[in-house]
Amino acid sequence: MIYFDSLASYPMLPEVREDLQLTMQSHYANPSASHMLGEQGKELIEDTREVLAESLGAFASEIIFTSGATETNNLIIKGVILPLLLKGKKPHLITSAVEHKCILSISNYLELLGCEVTYLNPNSKGEIKPAQVKSALKENTSLVSLMHVNNELGTINPISEIGSICTEARIPLHTDAAQSYLKIQTDVDELNVDFMSISAHKIGGPKGVGAAYIRDLKDLDISPLVHGAGQEFGVRGGTLPTPLIAAFGTAIGAFRNYYTLERNIELKEKLLTGLKRLGVRYRVNGGAETLPSCISLTLASSNIEGLLRGSHQSLALSQGSACSAGSIEPSHVLTSLHFNREEASKTLRISFSHINTAEDIQALVNEIAKYTES
Ligand SMILES: *Cc1c(COP(=O)(O)O)cnc(C)c1O
Repeated sequence: MIYFDSLASYPMLPEVREDLQLTMQSHYANPSASHMLGEQGKELIEDTREVLAESLGAFASEIIFTSGATETNNLIIKGVILPLLLKGKKPHLITSAVEHKCILSISNYLELLGCEVTYLNPNSKGEIKPAQVKSALKENTSLVSLMHVNNELGTINPISEIGSICTEARIPLHTDAAQSYLKIQTDVDELNVDFMSISAHKIGGPKGVGAAYIRDLKDLDISPLVHGAGQEFGVRGGTLPTPLIAAFGTAIGAFRNYYTLERNIELKEKLLTGLKRLGVRYRVNGGAETLPSCISLTLASSNIEGLLRGSHQSLALSQGSACSAGSIEPSHVLTSLHFNREEASKTLRISFSHINTAEDIQALVNEIAKYTES
């Protein structure tokens, strides 16, 4: 099986696997316990909190561990909006039509509860422009939530500029950085963001763990999503999974040794030259500057559905995002870019990782060519 789906989940790094095994064996104690075993677990958790904070240019006191980016997105958006609804206010949320499905589900839910939501439409690359955000701001806008890197196209949003606009208007900005963290610059001050969502399994860490960055957490009125026994500054209840968090820290430390710009660019170029050489027509979606490890292609003269069926046991590929795979509806991201059904069905998302070789790329090119009319 050749894996081209690192945007759905990045292959677990070898040192993460090793670390998970060790900590699963030795760190069975509850990290909130006051005995020595508890303290040792807590120490590992606090180490990861420090490493994560440092990588974002944040303070450790601004990091909350969660089960992943889906939960973090829920925690932040509901955590900001629900207290306002409870106070009888009519908050306004600005987001976009090309966010991860979970952000759209959260927004739809909050609309039912009386929140006003604006869904900004992207340009043809899938990008949201700062001017759009500026003109959507209203008196009652309480939060802007826009993803950093799109998980189907690899498009990078100008979050830093959008952040300046939000700062000026004194409106907090949240960015879902599940796809960008450690792959491109995600310093919270450079990006001008107040909230950020991160997932460990998108950087070679384990599934089931992630984090929220919350600027000046202690001064904020964030309502918890999971009410508990005071863990995570009272914002997220539940016993912390010591092994998952320790392994998350290991992934943060090691990821950059595996993920390099040069290598990703090389793989992408090999793919495109290979397709050209075999006369396969393609269009690259998402504009010129996308996440290096990902490429969205529309192959007008190829039978992509046939390819996906035929290579089911040999290639791990994705048509849209993994979360909506298996649905017969075209992806909401491609629909927002005005792709018709035909174009959407001929679109492939290919994402790379350190385990991919030049031979893997050649195998993919040959397979695509097999399903292409000349
Ligand atoms: C993968 C992903 C998520 C979901 O993260 P989980 O940790 O799997 O819950 C959210 N947003 C984006 C942009 C993603 O790519």
